Amino acid sequence: MDTRLADFVRDTRAGQEAAAILRSCVHCGFCTATCPTYQLLGDELDGPRGRIYLIKQVLEGKPVTEKTRLHLDRCLTCRACETTCPSGVKYSHLLDIGRQIVEEKLPRSIGQSLTRTLLREALPRPAIFGPAVKIGRFLRPLLPAVLADKLPPEAQGVNKPWPSGGRHQRRMLALAGCVQPALAPNINAATARVLDHLGIDFFEEPKAGCCGAVRFHLNDQAAAKKDMQRNIDAWWPHVEAGVEAIVVTASGCGVQVRDYGHVLADDAVYAEKAAKISALCRDPSEILVAESETLRTLLAGAIGVIKTLPKVAFHSPCTLQHGLKIKGVIEEILLAAGYELTPVANGHLCCGSAGTYSILQSELSKQLRQNKLAALNDGVPAVIATANIGCLSHLQAGSVLPVQHWIELIDEVLK
Ligand code: SF4
Ligand code: SF4
Repeated sequence: MDTRLADFVRDTRAGQEAAAILRSCVHCGFCTATCPTYQLLGDELDGPRGRIYLIKQVLEGKPVTEKTRLHLDRCLTCRACETTCPSGVKYSHLLDIGRQIVEEKLPRSIGQSLTRTLLREALPRPAIFGPAVKIGRFLRPLLPAVLADKLPPEAQGVNKPWPSGGRHQRRMLALAGCVQPALAPNINAATARVLDHLGIDFFEEPKAGCCGAVRFHLNDQAAAKKDMQRNIDAWWPHVEAGVEAIVVTASGCGVQVRDYGHVLADDAVYAEKAAKISALCRDPSEILVAESETLRTLLAGAIGVIKTLPKVAFHSPCTLQHGLKIKGVIEEILLAAGYELTPVANGHLCCGSAGTYSILQSELSKQLRQNKLAALNDGVPAVIATANIGCLSHLQAGSVLPVQHWIELIDEVLK
C-alpha cells in the first residue's frame, strides 16, 4: 500500500516505520475473517484492513474525525489479524502510531478524558489500586455495573508461602505487576514454588512496577516509557549480577516487556538496556519447557499421589498466542501434569478483556466474554485456566466456574 506521508510525520521514525508497515499490506483481507470486532459488527472499518486504511488516511494528512477514532478505539489490539496475515504486516505497531497521532490531533470530550486519566493514574499504582479494590468490594452494590463487573468477589489468597530466597544458585526475576498483586497474589507465589522445585530462586524487585502496558494502550506513550525506564533501572543491577531471566506471569505484561527494545529503540540512554531486558523476558511456560526433563521427573513422582484432577478448559490469551506466539505449549504442560483438557472452539478469538477495553468498550467486551465462556463451558470442565490476569478476572466475573492461572494448577500437582 503506497503512502504519501504528510509533512508533519514524513521525517519522523514513526512515519517511516508506519510507511514500511503499510507497504507490506497487499489488501488481501484474509485478516478480516479472524477479527473479533468485524465478526460482531460486520463493518469493514471494524476490521484490520479497514483500520489500516483509516491510519493511512491520517498519515497522509486527511482530517481526523470522531469516526476515525471510533473504529480505532474499538480495536482490541488482540493481534489475531497478525497471526492470520500471510504478508507479516505488523498491525499492532501501526495501530500504536495511528492511535497516538489521532490522540494528539483530536482532543477527547471531558468525560472521556477524565475516565482515561483515572485509569492511567490508578491502575498502574498498586498503592492506589490495592486499597481501591478493597473499598470497591465493600461498596459493590453502589458501583456502576461496568466497575462492579471488574471486581472479583475476593482476592485469591496465597495458598502456601513463597519459598525463602537464597536456596539456589540459579535466580530469576519476577515482575510483580500493578493489578495482579491485589487481584491474585497466589499466581507469582505459585510460580515461585514451581521454580523452587526446579532449583531456581524467584524474586520480585520492589522498585519495579507496572510494565507500562496500561498507559501505552491508553495512548500516553510518554508516561509508559517512563514506567519502562523505571523498571529497567530497578532490574539492571540484577541483570548485571547474572539473573537468568525476567519471568512475567501475565502474558499481557510479558508481551509489553518483550517490546521494550522496540519502544525504546531511539532512546540514547536506554535502547541497549531495553533490548537486553526484552531478550531476558520469559513466559513461565518457556521456563518449564526448557526444564522439561526435570519437570517430567517431578510430575511422574507427583501424579500417582494426587488421585483426581479436575477437567480443565484452557483459554489462551491473545497476548500469549498472537503476541508472544506461544501456542499449544501450556496445554502440553497441563496434559503432562495429568489434567484432562476439554476442547474449546474458536480458541483464536479474544475474550473481550484486552486491558481497559472491558471498561471503555463494555458492550462489545461483554458479547465477546459471553461467546468465549460458552465455548469454554461446552466441554463441561470443572475449572477454567488461563495465562493472564486481565483475562482471568474478566472471565471470572462472568463465570460460575473458578478461573485460575495455569501455573497454580501445576503448583497443585507438585505440592
Ligand atoms: S487487533 Fe484484533 S480487533 Fe484489532 S483489527 Fe486485529 S484482529 Fe481485529
Ligand atoms: S491479511 Fe495482511 S496483507 Fe492482507 S489485508 Fe490483512 S494486513 Fe493486509
